[in-house]
Order: sequence, then C-alpha cells, then structure tokens
Amino acid sequence: MKRQIFAPEHDAFRETVRSFLAREVLPYYEQWEKDGIVSREAWRAAGKQGLLGLAVPEEYGGGGTADFRYSAVLAEEFTRAGTPGIALGLHNDIIGPYLTGLATEEQKRRWLPGFCDGTLITAIAMTEPGAGSDLQGIRTHAEDRGENWLLNGSKTFISNGILADLVIVVARTTPEGGAHGLSLLVVERGMDGFERGRNLDKIGQKAQDTAELFFHDVRVPKENLLGELNGGFAHLMTNLAQERLSIAVSAIAAAEHLLEITTEYVKEREAFGRPLASKQHIRFEMAEMATECAVTRAFLDRCIADHTDGVLDAVHASMAKWWATELQKRVADRCLQLHGGYGYMTEYPIARAFTDGRIQTIYGGTTEIMKEIIGRSLLG
Ligand SMILES: Cc1cc2nc3c(=O)[nH]c(=O)nc-3n(C[C@H](O)[C@H](O)[C@H](O)COP(=O)(O)OP(=O)(O)OC[C@H]3O[C@@H](n4cnc5c(N)ncnc54)[C@H](O)[C@@H]3O)c2cc1C
Repeated sequence: MKRQIFAPEHDAFRETVRSFLAREVLPYYEQWEKDGIVSREAWRAAGKQGLLGLAVPEEYGGGGTADFRYSAVLAEEFTRAGTPGIALGLHNDIIGPYLTGLATEEQKRRWLPGFCDGTLITAIAMTEPGAGSDLQGIRTHAEDRGENWLLNGSKTFISNGILADLVIVVARTTPEGGAHGLSLLVVERGMDGFERGRNLDKIGQKAQDTAELFFHDVRVPKENLLGELNGGFAHLMTNLAQERLSIAVSAIAAAEHLLEITTEYVKEREAFGRPLASKQHIRFEMAEMATECAVTRAFLDRCIADHTDGVLDAVHASMAKWWATELQKRVADRCLQLHGGYGYMTEYPIARAFTDGRIQTIYGGTTEIMKEIIGRSLLG
C-alpha cells in the first residue's frame, strides 16, 4: 500500500538523510562498534547537516518544524541502514522536547545552540539499579543548599552515558513526596562529583555507549532545574508518548527491512534442488509476516499523522510501542531462522538486527508496562 502521510519535502529530506548515512556513518560504523562508541565528529556532522534539533525554533539554531514526520524519516532511514548506535532519535525526539518545552529563556540560550550543532550531546537518566519500570522507587536525591542542589545517587543503563555533555537527571527533591517529589536537574560535563562508570557491554547496539552514572555531592546550580520543582514525574509522563512513538516507528521500519532482506535471501538460497522461496512453509511464513507488517504500518502511519496534528494520546502511543516492537522481535527471529546458519553470523545484517533490536521491547517502558497503561485506561 502506498504510504499517504508524506509530502515531497519529506521525500527530499529522506534523500538528504540517506546521503548523510552513506557519507558520515556507514564508512565508520564498524569501527564505532569495535570502540563501543560513535565519534563526536559524527554528531557535529549531523548538526551541520541540519539533522539535530529539527523541532527546535530557528532562533536557537534548530530546524523550526514541529512536524514529527521528519523525525519519522530519520528513524526509518537510520533503522534501515542498521545504525542504531548513533542515537539521534534519543537526542531529538526524547530529550529535545524537555529542553524546548520546559527550559527557561536563559536555559534555551545556554543549551539549544549546542544541542543543534552537535557540540552538546544529551542523555536522560531515569533508571537506577533499583528502579526501572517503577520510577517511584528513584533514590537519587537532591538537597536544597541555597544556591545549589546537592545531588547524590547513581543511574544505570544510560544511553549516550559516556558521550553526554548534558544529562537530564531525575532526582528526588522532596523525600516524602512519592511520585510528586521528583524533579529534573540538568547535570553538565565537568561538574565536580559527576562521574561515569563503565561503558556497559551489551548483546547488541554495540556502537551505542550505555553507561552507569554516579553523583557524589554534585553542586547543581539552581538555574539548572528544568521545569517545575517536584513536577518531574508529570513532565516525564507528558514526554513519554513521543518517546514511545519514536521507538515504535523504528520497530516497524526494522521489521519491514528484515522482510525485504529475507525475501531476497529465500529467492536465492537453494535447498533440495529448488529455491527456498518455492516451499509452501516458507511462502506462508513470508505471507504472514508481510501481512502483520502491512497492518502494523497502517496503524503506525496513523499514529505519526495524529502526533503531527498533536492529538496522539499516551494510550495509543503505548499500543504502538508494544505492538510494533513485539512484531519486530518476532520478525527478526523468524527471518533469522529462514537464513539458517548464516543468520547466526554477525557479518549478515539479519544477525545484527536480531541482537540490535532485542532491546526495543524493554527500554522506553517494557511491553508489560505498556499493557498496564492500556489496561488502566480501559479498566481503571
Ligand atoms: C540498552 C539500554 C538503553 C537504555 N537507555 C536508557 C536511558 O537512556 N535512560 C534511562 O533512564 N533508562 C534507560 N534504559 C533503562 C530501561 O528503560 C529499563 O531497563 C526499563 O525501563 C526496564 O527497567 P528494569 O531494567 O529495571 O526492569 P524491571 O523494571 O526490573 O522489570 C523486569 C521485568 O519485570 C516486568 N515488570 C515490571 N513491573 C511490572 C508490572 N507492574 N507488571 C508486569 N510486569 C512488570 C518488566 O516488564 C520486565 O519484564 C536503557 C536500558 C537498556 C538495556
């Protein structure tokens, strides 16, 4: 089915992203996977190309468009290229809205130009060793010390954890406040007492730096509070819908891409004197996956259009997230099986997509948490 959500300017942007990938990402990606981290030059190149801060107003150096379809194009093309390690989606779609939506004028002037030109790489630190799905369990805390907040605690699994120059840290600012005692504090590279732990060794997304972060008596200036004091949980809830949609967009793009790769493979590979594609079981496997992808694509494009119009709610974003990421996981597994032993070799894109994609049902809220959100909306 022809997709109907894009206009010619989105198609032109897609071409720009493709040539950026060919020039600035693909030639270096294998090295970044070995290094466990992408180069800062790549971020600056992305800034120069206008791929950072798409939704940031032009006066701060951004693209000045709130049209989520550009973000969707970016996510789709990076997914198709098999390069999830350079986390532009995290920076643009997940962290960007906190800065554009919550920052004061002074904070915007301080942070947004670097956010857009690739010199300020960002991260968001919610998860702790003892608090992942249940953010109310956050223990990282900040005491009011007059001009500063005194921040103590630790975070784990933080994407861009090593590269980040600016980290939005979710911290408890009112001990007995429960969900209403959390605030967002911006911790900057070089603040005394802010330390990074290991670059964590993951099964996939090898080029993405994912790290532990430690805060020992970090004096965070009062002017680095982002949004409302004790309003952190509400701010998180507002922004999670876009985060989830963004992950869902990459998930359906991944599933479609794997289907394309596997279609070619089963046409070429022969067994028992005939191409695999001639066997009914394999034809049915492909037919089922193609159908599931097509149905999911229709829902996802509707979600992208709704979000562009500002009407996508948290429940539908949760539906999109769990459904598309679980589909990606199933499709990756079935396509790998259809590749036989070659599917297990990391030189084959299917193998890398299998391990790279496995996290999708976990981060940004697990499948189980998505179902909790949807269930609550139905049943209270
Ligand atoms: C590669 C990677 C990158 C990440 N990037 C970031 C980042 O940038 N910033 C950040 O803050 N975090 C990040 N995370 C953390 C991620 O968001 C959490 O891992 C995720 O939210 C799950 O939390 P958890 O690992 O503590 O699992 P837990 O919350 O301990 O969950 C364990 C299992 O129990 C299930 N479960 C939990 N509660 C319920 C319930 N009420 N009902 C049913 N089942 C339930 C979960 O679904 C899961 O299957 C990242 C994680 C990884 C692996």
